[in-house]
Amino acid sequence: MKKKHLAMTLSRLRGFSNPRPELEQYRTPGDVAAELLWLAYSLDEVEGKVIADLGAGTGVLSVGAALLGAEVVYAVEKDKKALEIARENARSLGVEDGIEFINADVSEFSKRADTVIMNPPFGSQNPHADRPFLLKAFEVSDVAYSIHLAKPEVRGFIEAFTRDNGFKITHRLTLPFEIPAQFRFHRKRLERIMVDVYRFERV
Ligand code: SAH
Repeated sequence: MKKKHLAMTLSRLRGFSNPRPELEQYRTPGDVAAELLWLAYSLDEVEGKVIADLGAGTGVLSVGAALLGAEVVYAVEKDKKALEIARENARSLGVEDGIEFINADVSEFSKRADTVIMNPPFGSQNPHADRPFLLKAFEVSDVAYSIHLAKPEVRGFIEAFTRDNGFKITHRLTLPFEIPAQFRFHRKRLERIMVDVYRFERV
């Protein structure tokens, strides 16, 4: 499978049916998910590996990892309805068996993973909502991929937080990320923000 094909396949998956603003439920667009997954795949950190997707939502990243040959993907999500959609998405592409759907808060998750992949809440509703996600990623794995806002203050926070937790940033790709106007406080039909896709590695 090529990156473009992966992006197209993932962009066709179902998104949140009733997104909850307090949980910052923005699905990752197919092209952004494919960039993150392709980077991990090309560094040999997906195929045959144990993957954890923290805050899996409707399963874009989990399904993508399964399509790229992950041994198993733990899709951890506290919203039961989102997880049901994730399961449907996986079934529609025949990868349901490769994903373990775990309805829990990320702080409760405790399985080891070779690689963590995640698009955590950006913290625009609750500042530092991404903190428990980063902490959990650094606890269960030596390698993590994550998406954060491409803003100077967020970058500063991520740089300090990774360093303080014994990790380093090895990659950072800056990409446009389109959010459909799904919440009342969004005035435009489509909002385009810039995000950073990171790869973190234990020092
Ligand atoms: N990873 C998905 C969803 C991103 S939105 C994608 O890439 O499309 C962030 C997700 O994190 C939402 O589905 C939200 O319900 C979930 N979430 C927020 N806080 C959480 C927590 N403490 N534990 C588990 N999931 C959480």
